Amino acid sequence: MARFIFITGGVVSSLGKGLASAALGALLQSRGFSVRLRKLDPYLNVDPGTMSPFEHGEVFVTDDGAETDLDLGHYERFTGVAARNTDSVSSGRIYSTVLEKERRGDYLGKTIQVIPHVTNEIKDFISIGEDEVDFMLCEIGGTVGDIEGLPFFEAIRQFSQDKPRGQCLFMHLTLLPFIKASGELKTKPTQHSVKELRSIGLAPDILVCRSEGPIPTKEREKLALFCNVRPDSVIAAQDLKSIYEAPLAYHREGLDQAVLDAFQISPAPRPDLSKWEDVADRIYNPEGEVKVAIVGKYTQLEDAYKSIAEALTHGGMHNRVKVRAEWIDAEIFEREDAAPHLEGYHAILIPGGFGERGTEGKIKAAQFARERKVPYLGICLGMQMAVIEAARNLAGMSKAGSEEFDHEAGQKRFEPVVYHLKEWVQGNYTVRRSATDDKGGTMRLGAYDAVLTEGCRVAQVYGGTAIEERHRHRYEVDIKYRDQLEKVGLKFTGMSPDGRLPEIVECADHPWYIGVQFHPELKSKPFDPHPLFADFVRAAKETSRLV
Ligand code: GLN
Repeated sequence: MARFIFITGGVVSSLGKGLASAALGALLQSRGFSVRLRKLDPYLNVDPGTMSPFEHGEVFVTDDGAETDLDLGHYERFTGVAARNTDSVSSGRIYSTVLEKERRGDYLGKTIQVIPHVTNEIKDFISIGEDEVDFMLCEIGGTVGDIEGLPFFEAIRQFSQDKPRGQCLFMHLTLLPFIKASGELKTKPTQHSVKELRSIGLAPDILVCRSEGPIPTKEREKLALFCNVRPDSVIAAQDLKSIYEAPLAYHREGLDQAVLDAFQISPAPRPDLSKWEDVADRIYNPEGEVKVAIVGKYTQLEDAYKSIAEALTHGGMHNRVKVRAEWIDAEIFEREDAAPHLEGYHAILIPGGFGERGTEGKIKAAQFARERKVPYLGICLGMQMAVIEAARNLAGMSKAGSEEFDHEAGQKRFEPVVYHLKEWVQGNYTVRRSATDDKGGTMRLGAYDAVLTEGCRVAQVYGGTAIEERHRHRYEVDIKYRDQLEKVGLKFTGMSPDGRLPEIVECADHPWYIGVQFHPELKSKPFDPHPLFADFVRAAKETSRLV
């Protein structure tokens, strides 16, 4: 049976709880243990699928098609363990399950209450697959004291009581603010946060304190004394130049040792950190720099494209260059010429997106990349933009567009080279959707196979012709335009196994121009960069040599 580590946060949000959890997972792996990471989010949305990326950052999609919190992306990037739909849950999902059961009469006429019905549902969720791994790390979203977090805190309290002694550990992440005027590191917010935790029956075993610098012995002892933890269980989480140093930094601070001590695992297996040393070496010692323009809509919040930013970094590490990604608002190109904004970049990337806003600008950026022979990677909507661009400017279909943009009923402003996907094959059955289905969860989601054309660029990049990638889209390039587009140079080099759904397009007469209907960024890892990103950055590096 797994040992459980519950990670909670206090004082303020955005302290890097997800990152700390992911780094701890990686450290436990480095000592030979198997891990799984989970996120329990107190918000009421059933899943983040319908939340705006401005609000919540990127929606991370798992192989089995769940739309989850972006922290699951960190978990995968650090541990390489593919997340599942049972690794992310929200209050919304818990409550809707409880209410469904109530309607079905499963509770046999009982009064339904937060304790025990909601807490039982949370506990059942936590224990899914508990026999599969050595350690299950469960991160609770939000901060202690939030009203909506209470059922989760209560559930993990009960859970630790249900298990034999020594099976569960509580790790609490807080902030140690540095007050410049007095030159002091303040422990009081942490003390209050721990007090808050204790008032609901939880006592942390390990304190991870985010601070700008090291924690002096005096403050460490004070925290240990007032928060009732051992001094060597007060771990400093100092600001790092790269998140990928986190496993090494936490190891230096003794986090993994403190965890093993708390579980009384002795002798502790020795860690093998060579993988992370190589990652840190690559990230801190680049031999050059490339500039990539990301032309999108959600440019205000970098978290909206978290996995893309990380995958580019991984591609850079592979090529030993630093990738300077700059975010450009596509709408600018609807008012101004794209060229002056895009000249000077070594590559252009158009990420996924929804809705019409900004698309005319993205099409201009795709055109610029194609005509000027700048490496271009179009992801999901970015591939659709490349297809529309080629249809309009190479195949002479001036009204080419996507059905997604004809949002009003009966509107027909565009010839839909990209059309609403209403039916597709998943495994051995057919999924059907109508235009009026709910917005939540009606997309082609999760891992699907694709077959690549022998000898084409992507087949070289992947080193094979059978791939599996994650999807999240509602619209699809229409194969009825395939011949017309291939004649003018846009080749359909990756297709769904049944040959109906275009997965990849590439420009034959171009050094590197690829559009993919899926999201390769979701599978990239620092120690195993996605081949498309590795080769895209290689192409950018080539361009940087030419200019
Ligand atoms: N809006 C497009 C679609 O639904 C693209 C989606 C995406 O880029 N993730 O097909």
